[in-house]
Amino acid sequence: MATYRFTCPECGAAVTVDAGARERLLEAGCAVCGAGVGTAAFTSANTFGTSV
Ligand SMILES: [Zn+2]
Repeated sequence: MATYRFTCPECGAAVTVDAGARERLLEAGCAVCGAGVGTAAFTSANTFGTSV
């Protein structure tokens, strides 16, 4: 399962999310501060290389 590391550019909250949670964050914004987030706030946490 693909996982992503989310780091909020506004409040610095850092959580690991799956693809579904990533989509919700992109739509609804940061769960902590409500700031809008873009794909740049996510990095792949997949330790087995890149799979897009
Ligand atoms: Zn935030």
